[in-house]
Amino acid sequence: HAKGAGKNGYSFFEQSMNTNARNHLQLLHDLRQAVDGRELLLHFQPKFAAGNGRRVIGAEALLRWQHPRRGLLMPDQFIELAEKTGLIIPIGNWVLNEACRQMSLWYAEGHRDWRVAVNLSAVQFCHAGLIGNVRAALDRHHLPANCLTLEITETTAMRDADASLAILGQLSDMGVDLSIDDFGTGYSSLLYLKRLPANELKIDRGFVRDLERDSDDAAIISAIVALGQALDLRIVAEGVETESQQAFLTGLGCDSLQGFLLGKPVPAEQFNAGVKALA
Ligand code: C2E
Ligand code: MG
Ligand code: MG
Ligand code: MG
Repeated sequence: HAKGAGKNGYSFFEQSMNTNARNHLQLLHDLRQAVDGRELLLHFQPKFAAGNGRRVIGAEALLRWQHPRRGLLMPDQFIELAEKTGLIIPIGNWVLNEACRQMSLWYAEGHRDWRVAVNLSAVQFCHAGLIGNVRAALDRHHLPANCLTLEITETTAMRDADASLAILGQLSDMGVDLSIDDFGTGYSSLLYLKRLPANELKIDRGFVRDLERDSDDAAIISAIVALGQALDLRIVAEGVETESQQAFLTGLGCDSLQGFLLGKPVPAEQFNAGVKALA
């Protein structure tokens, strides 16, 4: 049905639009299969106590998709699609269960003070089944609620403050640990933050990146640490890539650190080998 435009840009554009739409549909089809099949996996990135030591305090579970043709896909390549189609609910449940399963193994090995952190998407956070799903995952793996951290972004937490407060309140009553991810990128109301039953603020990687060059970033991090201390919240810095960032963040008073310098996200076996090597 090519128009008179012939081989010029118009028909090329139309063609590439079709290709994109087709790719999109293909990916959606594949994602449906991935949920049922065994193509989803978790990588675990260690969280460390601040300082120059190497004391592991837990891990963040990060989702990966081993696609049969496209290779290993990262969350930004499919999470949005999963959210738009509702597939994030079964996928998020799988993540929750798999992370709790792994944490229960660590717990049985004696790492009872570790926590595993799971990222919740905004869609999952607002889904009515969330509380029941969290409860079920903990029960299935006989895991104390305190061993699970749920990370929600500042933007998600602030979108509908009253609704978030109610959901976080229920999770907190259950004993689950709560972290506000990518902190500093949203628009927190301090009044609201004060009422939020969170346990941890996670400073966005953007502030850590230029820490050594940009004195504003150091000032912002200091301010977040002070805010966290005033509200009795732990402060985690993510995206630590250099030793000088590590020293700086420790000096500024962060409680824990996460980043490629200290440990990249890896499959559980590799994570365990890394922990053994540190001990
Ligand atoms: P996030 O929760 O803020 O996770 C941190 C991201 O930064 C991860 O990317 C991690 O690999 C990366 N990172 C960690 N340390 C460093 C570092 O030192 N330097 C740099 N450049 N990057 C670092 P990843 O795994 O690609 O995840 C991206 C985002 O996707 C996550 O951001 C999270 O919002 C989302 N995500 C990951 N897993 C899940 C999941 O199971 N469910 C949902 N809903 N979202 C997930
Ligand atoms: Mg996170
Ligand atoms: Mg983050
Ligand atoms: Mg992020």
